[in-house]
Amino acid sequence: MNHDLTPRPLNPAPQAPLITWPNGAKSAVFIGFDVDAETAWIGNNPSNVDRMVTTSHGGYDARVGIAKILELMDELALKATFFTPGWTALAHRNACERILRAGHEIGHHGYLHKMPDRDRLDETFEEVDRGFEALQQALGVRPVGYRAPSGENFPELLAYLAKSGIRYSSSFRDDIRPYRHACSNGSPGPVEIPVNFAFDDWNFGMSSRSSPRPLFGHNAVLSLWIDEFEATHAWGGVTTLVLHPQVSGRPMRWHVLRDFLRHVQAKGDVWIATGQEISDHFEKVERQLIAQ
Ligand SMILES: [Zn+2]
Repeated sequence: MNHDLTPRPLNPAPQAPLITWPNGAKSAVFIGFDVDAETAWIGNNPSNVDRMVTTSHGGYDARVGIAKILELMDELALKATFFTPGWTALAHRNACERILRAGHEIGHHGYLHKMPDRDRLDETFEEVDRGFEALQQALGVRPVGYRAPSGENFPELLAYLAKSGIRYSSSFRDDIRPYRHACSNGSPGPVEIPVNFAFDDWNFGMSSRSSPRPLFGHNAVLSLWIDEFEATHAWGGVTTLVLHPQVSGRPMRWHVLRDFLRHVQAKGDVWIATGQEISDHFEKVERQLIAQ
């Protein structure tokens, strides 16, 4: 593919509207989990499928992580969105059914967690289709939210997602408020609920032989998260979490997340909502603005 390096805004989406949040809340928090399980280890590196110890990082999801995260959400009476690759739903159907039964939202997270690649459009679209099919088959759901596996996207994929019934995406890092994507043909794309990369627990709590990273302790992560959240709250934005049960479902990290969420709840003026609730609210605000 020829790469077009002409100077232009690489994301043509219009500016985010100045959104107000329901019930007088000053900001929003979107708790998003990526239930990658083993796909985090085999999606972009299929030869890992024969490495049982490497993939056992992801196996933690179904054995421990998902159950502990559900226990925490129940204790704090919170609802979250669980972006689940189709492969995970088929491989760990019981654990994923528990997510659904507890009343949480299931989102689309590809099929095998392959990073979308503009040079391989057919394969990228097939990941989307197979993801939908697997979630339908395993859980009987048709998700409206999408978080890109390995967090990548491009114009053809945004248009394909919109055509496939995806109403919101949560991968981009270019705002603190939700906005509406614009497809290259001028038609509206999905709503974006942008993420803050500081809330990706993988950065602080996942280290492996093949991908070693420094690990950060309780106080380092909690103080970073509280500071980021407080500043986003003051600016009236949305704090979007990118969490993984194989990280935040581990014993010490579970307590970091619990302490952080209790801090958010104690503020009293934060709207904690699922991705679908936030995109519903955004669309309502959008309709009001158009009617004016
Ligand atoms: Zn993922």
